[in-house]
Amino acid sequence: MGFITESELRAMLKQGIPNPYPVREGDKFTPAAYDFLKGRGIQVGPSQANDANRQQAGSRTIPVGVSNRHVHLSPEDVERLFGSGYALTPMRPLSQPGQYAANEKVTLLGPKGLIQNVRVLGPARGASQVEISKTDGFQLGVHPPVRMSGHIEETPGITLIGPAGTVVLQQGVIVAKCHVHMSPQEAAEFDVENGDSLMLQTTGERSIMYMDVAVRVHANYALDFHVDLDEGNAAGLKTGDRVTVCGKNGKLFAGQGR
Ligand SMILES: [Zn+2]
Repeated sequence: MGFITESELRAMLKQGIPNPYPVREGDKFTPAAYDFLKGRGIQVGPSQANDANRQQAGSRTIPVGVSNRHVHLSPEDVERLFGSGYALTPMRPLSQPGQYAANEKVTLLGPKGLIQNVRVLGPARGASQVEISKTDGFQLGVHPPVRMSGHIEETPGITLIGPAGTVVLQQGVIVAKCHVHMSPQEAAEFDVENGDSLMLQTTGERSIMYMDVAVRVHANYALDFHVDLDEGNAAGLKTGDRVTVCGKNGKLFAGQGR
């Protein structure tokens, strides 16, 4: 909201003035500014940002992070697998502040087979947890439920093999439920709260809609939609792609979805 002056418009000339010139509600032009646009054949129209607001969060997009299978380890299990006194070493940071992919890898051994070179994510946390896809489950002969991270009660176990030892987990294997991380400010912008569910749509030749994406809000979170490899591949998604918010808590926004 405010007065748009001729000198402001003149300063925009170098980078180019959009036609139509976007106007937000409450914006006013000084007479000179109005003539300036008119003289250049530039129309004055409502801004796209305004349209986006009118569609609620309908046209808002969220970046995608596709997670391959990985392991979170307790400090004790880090030592059992990699040696006494061992600490994980960060390889690259993940989208969520403080989280990292470690250099360390383990082998998963199930009743039907094994999967080697499974990345450990850091830092070490309370209880060890193994996140695999449904497809991985067939290779291993382990069929875990879809769960939010941390909810490992009554989940299957698995054997982890590291360079210095083996850990037999009695429980802790899950297929991660897809979810969106966001800060409280982002939650306000999307008009959602922690625990809400979003509907997210992809574009591309295998466009799909994720019907029930859990919203996780925390001051330390950065906006990111997390899917596992099966769910990402189903839509041909790659890390860095974007999905569109098209509904909330099981209801499509008006005019959304095809
Ligand atoms: Zn996540």
